[in-house]
Amino acid sequence: MSLTEKKEKEYRKTVLNGAKEIFNANLVEFGEGNVSIRVKKQEEMFITPTQNDYSTLKLNEIVHIYFDGTQLSKGRPASSEYRLHTSVYRARPKAKCIIHTHSVYACMLAAVKQKIPVILEEMIFFLGGEIEIADYTPAGTHEIGEVALKAMGDKNGVLLANHGVLVCGKNMKSAVKNAKLVEKLSQIYWGAAQIGKVQSVAPEYWQKWLDLYKVMNSTVSQKKKSKSKKLK
Ligand SMILES: [Zn+2]
Repeated sequence: MSLTEKKEKEYRKTVLNGAKEIFNANLVEFGEGNVSIRVKKQEEMFITPTQNDYSTLKLNEIVHIYFDGTQLSKGRPASSEYRLHTSVYRARPKAKCIIHTHSVYACMLAAVKQKIPVILEEMIFFLGGEIEIADYTPAGTHEIGEVALKAMGDKNGVLLANHGVLVCGKNMKSAVKNAKLVEKLSQIYWGAAQIGKVQSVAPEYWQKWLDLYKVMNSTVSQKKKSKSKKLK
């Protein structure tokens, strides 16, 4: 089923706005990272183009592709990292938008393979808990998505070793929030580590926030959540 012109414009606009937001927040520079939105009930997405210049990015440069990378729109090719997005969309029907950045402090932690422990309660509410590190996998490969997804667990974000950040959300507002939050948490973690021993919030205080996360922000489907509970 082809999209109406109005709907297509809406998807393009959402991706464009998300891309401008992460650029204005200094989470990406020219040619880094990518932003996407899934097309409702289809194995398709709209994603930022390869060699993306965020400062001049326009609606018609956003690329419409099938999850397998086949291009549906004319013009610019999609970001080569679309596979990261495809893996998450396939595994998580509730993930509507995905953002990948190379934000500086998060990359510093990713370079020493340091996960972000629960240093603020809000990271449980928005992201689902501590942010793990996915093993290093070369950018642009199919494996990178699978490895990221595994490390992400039930959360909405993960650090990619020696590479960057991957976050998802129920909508673009939530994905942008998560991308900004991972960078903020990385900065706080780094700064705190300069002053003393970083202390995390004890797990016995997590539950209230985890319950809220599951209702408000989690992109993991109910079925999968009960399955992962059983495994524990
Ligand atoms: Zn990247």
